Amino acid sequence: MTTMESLIGLVNRIQMACTVLGDYGGADNSTFSSLWEALPSVAVVGGQSSGKSSVLESIVGRDFLPRGSGIVTRRPLVLQLHKLESGAQEYAEFLHLPRRKFTDFALVRQEIQDETDRVTGKTKQISPIPIHLSIYSPYVVNLTLIDLPGLTKVAVEGQPESIVQEIESMVRSYVEKPNCIILAISPANQDIATSDAIKLAREVDPTGERTFGVLTKLDLMDKGTNALDVLEGRSYRLQHPWVGIVNRSQADINRNVDMIVARRKEREYFATSSDYRHLSNKMGSEYLAKLLSQHLESVIRARIPSITSLINKTIEELESEMDHLGRPIALDAGAQLYTILELCRAFERIFKEHLDGGRPGGDRIYNVFDNQLPAALRKLPFDRHLSLQNVRKVVSEADGYQPHLIAPEQGYRRLIEGALGYFRGPAEASVDAVNFVLKELVRKSIAETQELKRFPTFQAELAAAANEALERFREESKKTTLRLVDMESSYLTVDFFRRLPQEVEKSGTPAAASNIDRYAEGHFRRIASNVSSYIGLVADTLRNTIPKAVVYCQVRQAKQSLLNHFYTQIGKKEGKQLLQMLDEDPALMERRQQCAKRLELYKAARDEIDSVSWVR
Ligand code: GDP
Ligand code: MG
Repeated sequence: MTTMESLIGLVNRIQMACTVLGDYGGADNSTFSSLWEALPSVAVVGGQSSGKSSVLESIVGRDFLPRGSGIVTRRPLVLQLHKLESGAQEYAEFLHLPRRKFTDFALVRQEIQDETDRVTGKTKQISPIPIHLSIYSPYVVNLTLIDLPGLTKVAVEGQPESIVQEIESMVRSYVEKPNCIILAISPANQDIATSDAIKLAREVDPTGERTFGVLTKLDLMDKGTNALDVLEGRSYRLQHPWVGIVNRSQADINRNVDMIVARRKEREYFATSSDYRHLSNKMGSEYLAKLLSQHLESVIRARIPSITSLINKTIEELESEMDHLGRPIALDAGAQLYTILELCRAFERIFKEHLDGGRPGGDRIYNVFDNQLPAALRKLPFDRHLSLQNVRKVVSEADGYQPHLIAPEQGYRRLIEGALGYFRGPAEASVDAVNFVLKELVRKSIAETQELKRFPTFQAELAAAANEALERFREESKKTTLRLVDMESSYLTVDFFRRLPQEVEKSGTPAAASNIDRYAEGHFRRIASNVSSYIGLVADTLRNTIPKAVVYCQVRQAKQSLLNHFYTQIGKKEGKQLLQMLDEDPALMERRQQCAKRLELYKAARDEIDSVSWVR
């Protein structure tokens, strides 16, 4: 294979990659489409039954296209020819059937028909959605060819009136692209002045630099006439020479005349024709194929710099997309375990940053201590608990009606214990509030850990493990804070009660208590006030100790050992389970695969282009 052949082959493969990309719609497609635009392709244009599909077939040297009268080609067919080393097995592949190799070309034709019908229905409708077909063969030149529906002047039965216009704009959308080389097909048995192909080609390529005039059906011209005026460029001048063709007639097709035979017959036709003998080495399908491939070569050569830079840009884009998607997961358990631990560490780093103030959210814990807890403590219903009525009731029930008893110990104990019971609420609420904040931070941190994005399963497991740990810390914290509250009631020592009467004597007015009820009222008031000041002290203490307990049991633990339990569990897992944990989003896996494949291709392309550029 010459370097140029391989270069055109390479261009073909790049176009192929671009085509797949069209489906894939991943990263920014602008580079890809401009790359596609930079690479040449060849489209056949002409009226219905002018011989477009036949010309394509003889260039390829294979029967594989549906042909016949009427509108046979109803969707664009993007045909990529890939030259194989001689002796290699010939086969075809459709983009829509990626894993199926066709070696029987009759089946290829059938599939084109079926695939056309799949989109258009079995009507005479057309569709602009192309069918992509690749042919790998030692007998082809590297080329991308596009077969298009024939231009027509009238809608036939079953077709909407708009079809004439629709076909024209579809064809135009292909041939107006500056990278499109136009094979303008006109049948020799019609006046060239009426050729739809030439008319359209002239519109989109006025200078004719990318138009090749092809004259088919030379064998069907009336006896005594010839096409020399056209073929020698006198009727209609094009920059490139006209090529005359003799394809198989419908009768040949019906008789299954072999392509090789047809080519030989075509050669013989020109060699023996008295009209065209002098042009015979510049006529025929084989010559057309060579001409096209030479032209492509020069076009590609001119475009190498821009193609190279586009390829480099594409590689860059793909590399960055790969980074974004994450590299593929290793296959051995050790590496998987390593990946998992790395993921955990990445998450922990972010989680800690939240707690340490490097990221927002951790401050909400302090809001619990600075505002929520004090407010809850202030709201406790001690007024009601220490109302004269309640104090009288509690004390009377505990100690009996003993107005002489200056310090009714049981009454005090019950009042204090009752009051302390109220502290349990705010204590538990602080624990729960901090737990809530921590859970939120876990959720946020998981979402912020880029590395985790591709592993939805692992994200869920990590979240579950972290929340489970937080739940354990919460239980522990609750036990500890409630114990703090309970401890305050155990501190009612003998000394505490011994001190009480003195305080009463200091502030009390027993001398004025002539009236027993008024004395009792003052007595209970004093009790209430004593209890109240004790409760006040307790509230002050708890306002300080509850946060300490909560931070110790929950925040500090979360920072130090949130995933400890999880790590032990992971350590026990087998390779298969690890792989399951690293289960990726299938869409993402697909994307990475596509991306990797393309990257490989573009890199190969870059290397090949480099080598070709050196050779010249
Ligand atoms: P398309 O509609 O432009 O794709 O044309 P086809 O390739 O399907 O050909 C239409 C018909 O014209 C078929 O029956 C072909 O056998 C016949 N045909 C095409 N080219 C030639 C030719 O050079 N000579 C003869 N005798 N028949 C041809
Ligand atoms: Mg056709």
